[in-house]
Amino acid sequence: MLSRRFLRQIQTKHDAKLLNYKRYRSSASRTEWKSVVGLEIHAQLNTESKLFSGAQNIFGGVVNNCVSLFDAAIPGTLPVLNRKCVELAVKTALSLSCKVNEVSTFDRKHYFYADLPAGYQITQQRAPLASDGVISFQVYTPGVHKKPYHKSSRIKQIQLEQDSGKSLHDAELKRSLVDLNRAGAPLIELVFEPDLEDGMEAAALVKELVLIVQRLRACSGRMEQGALRVDANVSLHRTGEPLGTRTEIKNIGSVRGVASAIRYEIDRQRALLQDGGVVSQETRSWDAVEKVTVPMRDKEVVQDYRFMPEPNLPPLRVNLKTKEDSKDVISVPLLQDTIPELPEDSRKRIIEKYRVRPEIAIQLVNEPALWDLFQGVTQDETRDPTKVANLLMNDLLTVLNKNKLEVTECPVTTTQLCELTDLLLTKKINLETFKQILNELVENPDSERSPARLVADKGLSLVTDDDEITQRCNEVIEENPKLVQQYKNGKVKVFKALLGILTKNTQGKIDMAQASEKLKELLKK
Ligand code: ADP
Ligand code: MG
Repeated sequence: MLSRRFLRQIQTKHDAKLLNYKRYRSSASRTEWKSVVGLEIHAQLNTESKLFSGAQNIFGGVVNNCVSLFDAAIPGTLPVLNRKCVELAVKTALSLSCKVNEVSTFDRKHYFYADLPAGYQITQQRAPLASDGVISFQVYTPGVHKKPYHKSSRIKQIQLEQDSGKSLHDAELKRSLVDLNRAGAPLIELVFEPDLEDGMEAAALVKELVLIVQRLRACSGRMEQGALRVDANVSLHRTGEPLGTRTEIKNIGSVRGVASAIRYEIDRQRALLQDGGVVSQETRSWDAVEKVTVPMRDKEVVQDYRFMPEPNLPPLRVNLKTKEDSKDVISVPLLQDTIPELPEDSRKRIIEKYRVRPEIAIQLVNEPALWDLFQGVTQDETRDPTKVANLLMNDLLTVLNKNKLEVTECPVTTTQLCELTDLLLTKKINLETFKQILNELVENPDSERSPARLVADKGLSLVTDDDEITQRCNEVIEENPKLVQQYKNGKVKVFKALLGILTKNTQGKIDMAQASEKLKELLKK
């Protein structure tokens, strides 16, 4: 007989096993880690001079050549706010449905680094220029998403601030050099709420922001020049639980980098958490070559920025009510009137008005050079916008690809494209000829060349003259009595063969729809 004690032991072991098993089960079912992404983006404003000084604001100038005494923090120099910067920041804020604040203030944010001569950066910490906005965009990665979907992210605030200089590390001589050309350059920082789910959504947001600031001419949007820099905050949590600890990936310099860095970071955190580990709140950087995020050494210690009000700048006031500008106060309603059509409105317009497919609309608008061509060609609405969109997206892109050219390098002018499109749409040429001439214009660029002349010189015009078509059809009928007989005996398939012979005889330069009808008609006789 088994003793009670032994039985209890078995029972306990069994319970323990069961408990473990249950724990295991529940943790497995709860391992649905959801990722959350929130962005902070710096965009350099497109102005001639810097935020608080008259020094030139350019990219790629001679080292330390665009530096005023103020930018170098020489004692006794004072900041003077550049009105143009405020205007561009306000336009950006309005385009993102932000509330522009009637009064905003400037603060000093302290840290010590060689590229910051004053020992502090002037920013807007307590009362930013604008707050509570939203950006709406389409997420569509061909090959990943079957269909585009709409997404939006709330904007917490937009603030004006100075850029820092640039440290250049000379590994060979083991020394650091500083270029202050960028010191004091005007930036806006846009802080987004953690509303995104993955890297592709973040990349789509960044792309949309680039398009918006480009349309506003507020920023060049050239990420490869550092004109727009992205910090991505990433965390994981379980559904229904509070947001998890986040890491921040600093200074991502391309749209593709945004997608890859975030994907990497999500995977890294997921593996860590599934292994029972914890994510530590830290700053990381994206290694675009190795394709990994790594902790940033100089950001390991938590900084105390010792924020304090900037004593040398009065509060910034804007006029929210009237369309009246004054020397010191800009009118927000006046600026509102200068905002052009924004990318999402362009897409909506061509989808609703012209029935362009959403996928095509997205790709067209997302490639500004292509969009400009589209606008130019469809200004005259007799040119069917849907057909034009397809010609650009399919045929022009194919020709450019073949010649290893970016859309921005496309040598075909709008005038040439209009003329060539007209030839096609009025059936003076066929699609083959359209492509051939397009290729010719890309391979041998000459903005003066007329596509119509090229077509004439090469004898590529389509035969549309009724008499000539009748004559060509009659020739085919006379030369192929056997086929004609078979057709008349009811072998309908033979018609295709006859049409093929006609195409061959005319080297395809005949209006096939017209010719096919004529041939049928003549065969009835
Ligand atoms: P802090 O006050 O520490 O600067 P914020 O609330 O201002 O933090 O957020 C800074 C950025 O981090 C914002 O872009 C925000 O969207 C993002 N963020 C905040 N919490 C999370 C989180 N748990 N996961 C992902 N991103 C987050
Ligand atoms: Mg913050």
